[in-house]
Amino acid sequence: MRKPQGRKPIDRVFLRYELTIMLFLALLPEVLMLVGSYFWIETRIAHEMSFLANATARRADNILKVTQANLKQIAEKTSAQCDLDAIEFMRDKVFKVMFIREIGIINDQKLMCNDVKLFEPPVDITTLEQTAIAENDGEIALVPPMPTLQGGKSILVNYRVNANSYVNALIDPDIFAEFHDYVRLGEISDVLLVREDGKTVISLGSMSEQTLPPLSETAAHVQYYNGNLFSIYKSADYPIYAVVSATPAFIFRNWWRDAFALLLIGGVMSLTLGLLLKRNRNNSSLLQHELWQAIENNQFCIHYQPLMDMVNNRCVGAEALIRWQHPGKGLIPPLVFILIAEQNGMIRYITQWLIDHIDTELGDFLVQHPDIHISLNLSPLDLGEDGKNWVSEALLFRQIPHQQIIYEITEHTLMPKHCQVGKKIIQGLRNQGAKIALDDFGTGYSSLSYLQRFPLDYLKIDKAFIDSIDSATTSSGLIEHIVNIASSMRYELIAEGIEHEYQMHYLLAQGVKLGQGWFFAKPMPAAEFMAFVQKQNT
Ligand code: C2E
Ligand code: CA
Ligand code: CA
Repeated sequence: MRKPQGRKPIDRVFLRYELTIMLFLALLPEVLMLVGSYFWIETRIAHEMSFLANATARRADNILKVTQANLKQIAEKTSAQCDLDAIEFMRDKVFKVMFIREIGIINDQKLMCNDVKLFEPPVDITTLEQTAIAENDGEIALVPPMPTLQGGKSILVNYRVNANSYVNALIDPDIFAEFHDYVRLGEISDVLLVREDGKTVISLGSMSEQTLPPLSETAAHVQYYNGNLFSIYKSADYPIYAVVSATPAFIFRNWWRDAFALLLIGGVMSLTLGLLLKRNRNNSSLLQHELWQAIENNQFCIHYQPLMDMVNNRCVGAEALIRWQHPGKGLIPPLVFILIAEQNGMIRYITQWLIDHIDTELGDFLVQHPDIHISLNLSPLDLGEDGKNWVSEALLFRQIPHQQIIYEITEHTLMPKHCQVGKKIIQGLRNQGAKIALDDFGTGYSSLSYLQRFPLDYLKIDKAFIDSIDSATTSSGLIEHIVNIASSMRYELIAEGIEHEYQMHYLLAQGVKLGQGWFFAKPMPAAEFMAFVQKQNT
């Protein structure tokens, strides 16, 4: 066998390509995890914000409703006039309603009394905020937290009794923010309770009212505004809004915390995938290594399947089919290892091995039997599929006259992508006297006018068509069609895969003279084939 000069270029390109794909596939789970988890976390945070904003608005409704109802009772009972009964009544309310810290009666912007005592003289209510009252009698107005006489800060709820008088309650601001612990723990970014005019009533966190999106009842419950994520819900009965916000940094922090765990999971997945890919690669390189060993240690052998002249029942040749007797795995079918050898470029060396061995095994015999020919299968790479002009001499026999050789090629080899080099090589072989057969004819997609451009001698009708002939067949439109094409193009036909006598009779009736298949003989070693010819042809 002619020793290969080197297999590096094909291997190196293949390896680089393979490594890139491996790296890409191994990192894919990580990247997908990270991107996917960000959107997942963002959605989760938006969902939590929405829940919190809605709950805060509903809670404000309840607190204000209770406060309004109590202030209304005080207004009705006292008509906004201070006396001991009124003070007693107010004290009772402060005692019973947990979140009300103090109640007072205001006339003409003066605090007249609270639930503890009468103010003499009355205390002036000077700040504009404190005097905020509703437009209509019986309604309430909210005042943001302010220092109170008892110390600490309270929210003021002013209940309008009439244009000059109101009753007010001081409320513990914390009561509105049931979830404030979440905020302190950094679970939620900011919570605000905002009046319709944009004034903040309660603020937990660092958000300022200037950064808020325009408040409106129809606003989307979750939206991005100036880069921050907001969830806004309006109170059902009062002109206030609950706003929950999160900054991108807050979302990122949360994502990063979860992403770290996901990264670990992704890392384990990547590692597993990487190991699997590596094992797979090892397997394929192992097979490649084993293919070299097969050539060097003579694990390949060739079986010859007789080709019959069906008219005279004589053997006129054989197709050489390679076999691999693997020491550990037993007989490996050619379709399995040929495919791998085609992928890694080793097929050329296998074809050379084949040519060398056919020459050795049958050279003398064929020289003595000039009417017998041998066909062998070429793969696209043998015909320069990769654009490299693999000298056609590499495909030549040294002993067997080329007039007795048929090279079998498939339609794939003739595809425009690589036909230029292929056509040249085919022409070179034909010039030596060899014949060319188109294998598996009918299974490809080439148009006939396209095939006509190539120098062919035989069409081998694929077994699939022969299988379509059953014992009752009197006409198989397809085969008749193929016969017509072949004769109009002056190609000779070979039918392959004949398993039954009726198939042979049918083909003969259609004018197909050459046939191959288990009906005549299965592929056999060289010695058996020579004996077969002697027996059949005498
Ligand atoms: P192919 O060139 O179409 O070869 C014909 C296949 O059909 C062979 O299978 C042969 O054993 C099988 N065969 C022949 N008559 C019958 C029949 O009556 N019934 C059935 N069921 N099968 C039949 P094999 O040897 O397994 O080869 C399979 C394929 O592997 C071949 O298809 C060819 O494409 C490829 N191959 C085999 N040897 C070589 C080789 O030396 N070089 C290259 N490049 N390819 C080869
Ligand atoms: Ca073939
Ligand atoms: Ca075939």
